[in-house]
This record gives sequence, structure tokens and C-alpha cells, in this order.
Amino acid sequence: MRKTTAYIIAVFVLTCLILLPYPNPGKGNPYKQGKKLETIILDAGHGGKDPGTIGISGVYEKNIVLPITLKTRDFLLKDYNDMKVILTRDRDEFIELKNRGKIANNNNGDLFVSIHCNARKSEEVDKNGFEIYIMDLGRLNEAMNITYAENNFLNFEKKDSITFRQSVDYLVTSLAQNSFLKNSERMANILQQQMGLDTKLESRGIYQAGFYVLIGASMPTMLVETGYLSNKNDEEYLNSQKGQGDIAKAIYKAIRLYKFDYDYENLAK
Ligand SMILES: [Zn+2]
Repeated sequence: MRKTTAYIIAVFVLTCLILLPYPNPGKGNPYKQGKKLETIILDAGHGGKDPGTIGISGVYEKNIVLPITLKTRDFLLKDYNDMKVILTRDRDEFIELKNRGKIANNNNGDLFVSIHCNARKSEEVDKNGFEIYIMDLGRLNEAMNITYAENNFLNFEKKDSITFRQSVDYLVTSLAQNSFLKNSERMANILQQQMGLDTKLESRGIYQAGFYVLIGASMPTMLVETGYLSNKNDEEYLNSQKGQGDIAKAIYKAIRLYKFDYDYENLAK
């Protein structure tokens, strides 16, 4: 293809993206004008044969993140009668990482929150507090390929050339991932603030990481390491009804605030 032809096609594709309404708003599409945030995916880490981190007194991460997740779901369902809350697991069950993203995508989730507990590495000094992770920008390409493979953002008629369709799909996918990242960042900031207000845990900050579970779901995603099971105080708190309730309340309130913003922006369009 000559350079000028390629240039004309590129300009045309971009113009289409800007001017045309999206013909198939649906699965995984972030451009849901007029649509409220309605499907939340809560992912309790580990489960079944995978205990996750083991605390200093012997508690299993899988048994702490499950009640936090169930409580968060209950808070949300009590508050909203039009919200769908999907759990990747609601019992002590092993779910492969790649299936967690699939569950989220198949249910057309608007937000994915993965809930975990941390432990210091043996060479590290004692650590405590919560950390929030969003997707690493360096793994954007990988995420785009998964999104591209799993979702058909645009179903053009067959008359369009395959190359044209792929270029548009790829561009839309990339725009979608950028929008997901922006919303993940927004939710991470809200959650950080809310965890600070509602729990006894200290914030260790928001980071970008290449966690597979964050890459497989085509929607804004985040992972919260609620505290360190290797730290005596964190472990005691995370293992208590009070601690689990506080964390669930913080996650619920953060989703509530995020939804308020999201709905306002989308409905205002
Ligand atoms: Zn974990």
C-alpha cells in the first residue's frame, strides 16, 4: 500500500471514530451513553486448593477475602435494587485466574474489583497497610489483544475490507483501554480515600502492576491488597468481624461514589 493511501485510510478511520455513533454498543464497550453503572464484579482472591497468603497466626487469605467480598455484595444489594453484583466465587472454591476475567466479561461488567491480602517477602522488614493496584501501562498491548480477541466492539458489514475493520477495531479497543485506565485510576483514588476513612489500615499508595487478573477483564479493573497478614496488627484486624465489615463498607462506599460520578457523566451526555 502506498504511503498516501495508508495516510488517507488512517485519517478516514479516525474521522469515522470521531463522527460516527458506535453501531454496536454492548459487550465491554465503555461508550455506553445514557447507561448507568449497573454490573459490578467482585473477585475474592484464591480459594479451594489455593489458600493465598498464610498469616502469622495461620489464617488463610482465601478465608478473609471471601467474607469481605460477601459483605460488600450485601451492602450494595441492600442499597441498590437495580444493581447486578456478580462474584467470581461465593464459596471456598478454586477458580483459575483466566476464568475470573472471563466471568467478568461474560457478565458485561462495568467495574471489576479484586480483593486480596498481602504478606511481606522474607527479606523485607515488617510492613502494614493496604495497597491498590491498577493495570500497568506497559501491559496495555497484551490487554488490548485479549480485549480484541474476546470482544467484538464493532460488527461491520462484510462489504468492508478485513484490514479496514481490523484497524477500526484496534483503534476502538485502544481507546477503550485508555478509558478503562482512566476510570480505574478514578476508582482507585476514591477507594484509597474511603479505606482511609472507614478502616484502621494505613494507605501504602496506588500502584500500577501487571497482575494477570487485571488484564483479562475488559472494563475498569483494580486489585486491593487489604492489609498484611504477615503483620500482627493487620492480621488481627483483617481476621476480625469488625475489620472485614469496615473494609467491605469502604469498598461499598467507594463504588457508590464512583457510580454517582459515572452515572452523572454518562447520563449528561
Ligand atoms: Zn492474593
